[in-house]
Amino acid sequence: MSDYAKLFEQDRAHFMHPSTHAHDHASGALPGRIITGASGVRIRDHQGRELLDAFAGLYCVNIGYGRTEVAEAIYEQAKQLAYYHTYVGHSSEAIIELSARIIDWAPAGMKKVYYGMSGSDANETQIKLVRYYNNVLGRPQKKKIISRQRGYHGSGLVTGSLTGLASFHQHFDLPVEGVKHTLCPHFYKAPAGMDEAAFVRYCAEELEKLILAEGPDTVAAFIGEPVMGTGGIIVPPKGYWQAIQAVLAKYDILLIADEVVCAFGRVGDKMGSQRYGIKPDLITTAKGLTSAYAPLSAVIVGEKVWDVIDNASTTQGAMGHGWTYSGHPVCAAAALANLDILERENITANAGEVGGYLNQRLRQTFEGHPLVGEVRGDGMLAALEFMADREARTPFDASLKVGPRVSAACLERGMIARAMPHGDILGFAPPLVLTRAEADEVVAIAKAAVDQVASEVL
Ligand code: PMP
Repeated sequence: MSDYAKLFEQDRAHFMHPSTHAHDHASGALPGRIITGASGVRIRDHQGRELLDAFAGLYCVNIGYGRTEVAEAIYEQAKQLAYYHTYVGHSSEAIIELSARIIDWAPAGMKKVYYGMSGSDANETQIKLVRYYNNVLGRPQKKKIISRQRGYHGSGLVTGSLTGLASFHQHFDLPVEGVKHTLCPHFYKAPAGMDEAAFVRYCAEELEKLILAEGPDTVAAFIGEPVMGTGGIIVPPKGYWQAIQAVLAKYDILLIADEVVCAFGRVGDKMGSQRYGIKPDLITTAKGLTSAYAPLSAVIVGEKVWDVIDNASTTQGAMGHGWTYSGHPVCAAAALANLDILERENITANAGEVGGYLNQRLRQTFEGHPLVGEVRGDGMLAALEFMADREARTPFDASLKVGPRVSAACLERGMIARAMPHGDILGFAPPLVLTRAEADEVVAIAKAAVDQVASEVL
């Protein structure tokens, strides 16, 4: 333990953590946790505690922890060729193979893959591609991007602007100009008396109103997650994507599917696009591409945008956009080993089957529970939303921190489930290799935690 005491001291002194209360961390009020190892769906901490990670890190460790096959692929690649850049047509075997494999996972009509290191930088690339596309088409005024309230697209200046959560804008002078937000498709929060079909029409009408108010010839693209993740695990209502796509097509607006959470099996299909009938022009992926064994993101470019880029290069030359680590061979090797495992073990099918079971068990356990307003999810994604008055759908006062308290009560019982940043929502996004027995464990721990907090706040 004393070694850890020293490490914690150094951590408090020099490590600036993301999304962490600065003073509570530095003062030690926030206890912190050093993760020392992990295997399957469980992680271990410095106290030797084993925790069931029902959020797969940050919904990224799709194949589960401790896969030595991926570690070996990383080692072999680093030994053979740790790095060379991919500018001016340079390649490595791993990245060439990976690009073809990603196109196989993507919906029809996708052509090329551009690599980065994170979901944020990939979405940054998307916005630059959209600008480039319209500039070379001779319509430089068509630049605005529409995203959605509660959407999450990253933490950069543009991507943080696309993110529709106030805490990501505050103190950073965001959103930047040219980013607009439309409705979050959360049917549970629909205006009173609206059925699902009417709510879908309402979402599409609101989008069209916004486009018309801005001027259709100024709106370049719409970005959305197939299932909204960080905004609270929001599954689109039936027909939502079809209605949205009809509006976008009418005004020649590109669709960017942000599949950073959904792609590579999480929703029980290859990507969210196939699951929900989305036909994107551009796709963003990251997380599950390597199951986070190495940082890698992929922007998948559809034929329509690619054709414009291809043609433009004959007069415009090379596009001035590149990262040092675009197409990093070690990360590509990790991705290939990850895709091998996902495919060989039918992990996408497991996500659909066990995820469906998890969602069913959560509904059986929590629908009608006095603390729970809504139980929702799809594939290996689920959430419980807590309400002070479930009949009237009245939320708790934020100061009661009901979501974080349920999350803490889960942790006391040996499980990580995430208090989502908007409202009182407990999110589940376990590794896709979860078994039915482990799903039962998730539900049992969640039940005890929710009961405990209910007894404190109701
Ligand atoms: N898009 C979505 C849908 C995400 O969930 C995230 C991360 N949670 C990002 C983009 C940003 O990815 P990163 O944190 O790797 O920059």
